Amino acid sequence: MSRQTPVFEKVALIGLGLLGSSLSHAMRRAGLAKQIVAAARTRATIDTGLHLGLIDEGHLAAADAVAGADLVILCVPVSACAAIARQIAPALSPGAIVSDVGSTKASVIADMTPHLPDHVHFIPGHPIAGTEHSGPESGFAELFDGRWCILTPPPGSDRQAIDKLRRFWQACGSSVEVMEPQHHDLVVAITSHLPHLIAYNIVGTAADLEDVRKAEVIKYSAGGFRDFTRIAASDPVMWRDVFLNNRQAVLEMLGRFNEDLSLLQRAIRDGDGDRLQSFFTRTRAIRRGIIDAHQDTGVADFGRHMLPQDEAAQGSADAERQAAAKRDKET
Ligand code: NAP
Repeated sequence: MSRQTPVFEKVALIGLGLLGSSLSHAMRRAGLAKQIVAAARTRATIDTGLHLGLIDEGHLAAADAVAGADLVILCVPVSACAAIARQIAPALSPGAIVSDVGSTKASVIADMTPHLPDHVHFIPGHPIAGTEHSGPESGFAELFDGRWCILTPPPGSDRQAIDKLRRFWQACGSSVEVMEPQHHDLVVAITSHLPHLIAYNIVGTAADLEDVRKAEVIKYSAGGFRDFTRIAASDPVMWRDVFLNNRQAVLEMLGRFNEDLSLLQRAIRDGDGDRLQSFFTRTRAIRRGIIDAHQDTGVADFGRHMLPQDEAAQGSADAERQAAAKRDKET
């Protein structure tokens, strides 16, 4: 463990689903907490957390979990944050860091701030990492490895507390960026929220087809459709909340999306191959940029384990990219 790695006496996770349980795994891996406790709505989740060794103690009342904690992280759907802030406020220890992992930031800040006492450091966060799975059994320590975590501290936040939380996330495997909450909401509207909306919509359209055609959609889904179904299998409550709580930014991006879609529709109607080809060439470059930034691999996976030939292909693709980068540098 590095000298810089923070160690908390007691971390309270409010909510122990994909994010809460992954945080527990990551904290255990890096030795970031002497004690990890959690609160959840149901006894079943707490029992699973105890059984899996994710937590040392579990509570049904969030206020009981946060007593004596020096780090509290809300890992619940964003619509639950206001009520939880109200419940935990009287039990929070002076100097504790209070954070969250919610996918929207301006709404969480507006919902929680009025309830929290002045003697805690409220530093909201959002790890840009996830899967379509939910619940305490779905978490894993590597979820945050190599991914970004965005912190959106309110103006005037304590610098040492921000730094401590930054080092916490780094020890969980993430890179950390500090951002204005409104900017965060705009960025994730296009990178996360709109892609989910599009996936929900296309899968919904297929589901509404008559039975024979629907069966064919499933049978031939490897043509592209299945890649949307993974995203469209994401938790309905979480995503309902995301769209209700990032309405303005999503509507702005949806407006731009619709304009671009109309242009593509026109190009198809007009038989304008040049326009289509140049559009698709531009988007292909974005995909390459994501792979080069190590936010994905170039191998088609989509839920399958990597086959040996895929690994070999990935290895040679990486080697080729490195060689090309070296050539570019030399020329
Ligand atoms: P999840 O797997 O569905 O887990 C949610 C947890 O919150 C469960 O332990 C649940 O308790 C508890 N909970 C739900 N509603 C509650 C309420 N009203 N009061 C108290 N506890 C409540 O969800 P998740 O995927 O971990 O998502 C949690 C947060 O992370 C969300 O804000 C989401 O926006 C954010 N996030 C998610 C992802 C992702 O890919 N999933 C990525 C980044 C950020 P029970 O189990 O007892 O019902």
